[in-house]
Amino acid sequence: MNKQQTVLIIDDEKTNLKILSSILKNEVEVILAKDGETGFYKAIKSKPDLILLDVIMPQLNGFEVIEKLKNEALTCNIPVIFVTGELDVQQEEIGLELGACDYIQKPFHVEILKARVRLHLRMAKQRELLEKLANIDPLTSIANRRLYDQTFASQWNKAIKQQSIFSLVVIDIDDFKKYNDFFGHAAGDRALEKVATAIANILISSNNFIARYGGEEFVALLPNTPANEAINIMQTCLKAVENLKIVHELSAEHELLTVSLGGVSYLPIDESCQDTLFKIADDMLFKAKSSGKNQVIWQDCIKGN
Ligand code: GH3
Ligand code: MG
Ligand code: MG
Repeated sequence: MNKQQTVLIIDDEKTNLKILSSILKNEVEVILAKDGETGFYKAIKSKPDLILLDVIMPQLNGFEVIEKLKNEALTCNIPVIFVTGELDVQQEEIGLELGACDYIQKPFHVEILKARVRLHLRMAKQRELLEKLANIDPLTSIANRRLYDQTFASQWNKAIKQQSIFSLVVIDIDDFKKYNDFFGHAAGDRALEKVATAIANILISSNNFIARYGGEEFVALLPNTPANEAINIMQTCLKAVENLKIVHELSAEHELLTVSLGGVSYLPIDESCQDTLFKIADDMLFKAKSSGKNQVIWQDCIKGN
């Protein structure tokens, strides 16, 4: 078992909490909760890797707790093992149907308990790794198109609810075909990686989102950010790419590798305007390309320019 992994134990009996934590504490970080309500809040707060949940508890019982956990986005993927006194087949069935991954019976058999916990922690780690791999672009190590789609949908819905200004930016490397043609595809890959990292460092430190949209094109999401602020951030990105000083002799206008950016700031009305937003940013990118490249062009739909 891994020291960094965390197990939350929810049980109303002090003795059980004591026994379980003494069995596990040398192998994982243990968090304890003495009732269902506290356990639920601790699960949200510390997002443990695994939960051991007592079935019979006063107030919220184990079945009610697991329902709450499965209905909450922050906790719905955390595996839950039920801890039960007697092995009642019907109860076991209910628990598994509610989403539990396993049952452990009292009195505890130390080695079996450890083996089960180890197994589920290992599976949780593998699931996490798979999820990460499915969301990351392997060349640049930033988010991929899949994660962008998910993030955009959830941030957009939040912006509709909060009626907050949303900015979206499409970023494209200038004259990259010529760069590849001259320096070769491998050098192109290295340049692409450097550009992605330079932009991501700025956006991620300002709590914004960047993904590789495809090829040598990136897309950035800046929720809750009006045009003037977003333009400033993107000008910093533009400069950061220039400061990489990647020589590109074949570039029509510039000696160094540069990017063009098209952005839009918008007050979301409903889900349907998501596509419009990208289209406007893409039109702005086209303008940036056709009027000299290496620049940021913006449409502020709030001020109407
Ligand atoms: P513009 O300034 O108008 O954007 O011109 P451009 O040459 O950058 O645009 P174009 O769309 O004509 O060419 C894009 C090039 O990006 C062609 C393609 O080989 C290159 N490219 C896309 N993905 C990758 C990649 O993963 N690695 C490398 N090395 N090159 C890539
Ligand atoms: Mg390009
Ligand atoms: Mg392109």
